[in-house]
Amino acid sequence: MATSFEDLGLGPEVLRAVSDAGYTTPTPIQEKAIPFIMMNRDVLGCAQTGTGKTASFTLPMIDILAHGRARARMPRSIILAPTRELAAQVADNFETYGKYHKLSMALLIGGISFNEQEKALDRGADVLIATPGRLMDHIDRGKVLLSDTKIVVIDEADRMLDMGFIPDVEKIIGMVSSMRQTVMFSATMPKEIRNLAEKFLSNPKELTVDPPSSTAQTITQGIAHVGPRQKRSVLEKWLKEDNIQNGVIFCNRKRDVSNLHKSLEKKGFSVGALHGDMDQHKRMEWLEKFKSGEVKFLVCSDVAARGLDIAAVSHVFNYDVPLNAEDYVHRIGRTGRAGREGTAYMLVTHHDEKLLTAIEKIVGSSLPVLEGMEPRSKEDKSSNASHENKQASNKNYQERGNRKRGRKYRDQDFEIGIEPEFDMPFGQTPNVPAFLLRSFK
Ligand code: AMP
Repeated sequence: MATSFEDLGLGPEVLRAVSDAGYTTPTPIQEKAIPFIMMNRDVLGCAQTGTGKTASFTLPMIDILAHGRARARMPRSIILAPTRELAAQVADNFETYGKYHKLSMALLIGGISFNEQEKALDRGADVLIATPGRLMDHIDRGKVLLSDTKIVVIDEADRMLDMGFIPDVEKIIGMVSSMRQTVMFSATMPKEIRNLAEKFLSNPKELTVDPPSSTAQTITQGIAHVGPRQKRSVLEKWLKEDNIQNGVIFCNRKRDVSNLHKSLEKKGFSVGALHGDMDQHKRMEWLEKFKSGEVKFLVCSDVAARGLDIAAVSHVFNYDVPLNAEDYVHRIGRTGRAGREGTAYMLVTHHDEKLLTAIEKIVGSSLPVLEGMEPRSKEDKSSNASHENKQASNKNYQERGNRKRGRKYRDQDFEIGIEPEFDMPFGQTPNVPAFLLRSFK
């Protein structure tokens, strides 16, 4: 017989909240992780978003934290998440599942005033949910003491690695007593994450669940071969198709997110935008408007590709081919969720061919070309040659630069708007002030 939530050792209030949320059976990661977390064991979970992993740590934490009281500035537990949106989402989960408890929560993310966050810390937090950079800022200001912290959760550890947050994560865990319970989740387990686990987890229970397989199977994918100057017109044609309920449009760079957003708005599309440089309130506002259906489309950078739980997205449009093949999987994973049908289209210019090959390798098959959108002939391509060469050399710069600098700066390159100049010599790292490198938190 299938395991029920009642079998997992959760208390009656949490069970009531779970039932109110409409969940009847635990997902595999919940079934595996909850009993161990309830036993105060360290857990290393290999699980992606969409598997129900947030509830797999929030539910037992609520039960564990139900007894005891937080003291001012001394959080009893901390959850580290790589992006503001993910942190806010974890906080939402806490509110939903903790509705029958009186736990206090502090959400420390960038883009929001320190004042409110300090007040929440002063009141005492049972749960502190934070992005690593903002938490470090509060620690540096002497506003947080981690000596009373008993549980640490590191969510999306591989994403933290990609974003260069691991040094901050290490510093933070280093300040917590070694008597703590540590839970770490990661979608993949590269060497660096294994090392981190070895350093900070004590005899962890290792758990793995398969990625939600229904996703890929319910998504209809298609690509269009276009010249760079055709991208907007083809996208606009797609956006006018009848069967679109709503859609997320992905660009690689923040500047392009803003430009495309403005251009679509001008043309009368109902559209919002989301990227890492935007004011946090604005980001949340667009996200809410999109979730509620007030705007039909959302132009995004990869800040929105992973983790965001927007339940019913009918279409994903890749305006740019992602530079990392795995980002393609995360991007299209915004649609076709929970067994729903989804459609994912991508615009491909001829200098994206290598990136496309890498994506097809990960997906395991070639992506179907939409009718009438086959690659153009050589002569055709040469008409845009000078423009494309410029773009290709820029991309070439970025790829070489990224390789040289290591993956650490990849997201920052695109999320804090470090746009390499065309005449910058290969391999020269743009001079980025340290405080900007933090601004993604
Ligand atoms: P997550 O992987 O934590 O981002 O969760 C993905 C989605 O699954 C969220 O919309 C959750 O609300 C939902 N969810 C989590 N646990 C369950 C469950 N046991 N049954 C149904 N849906 C769930």
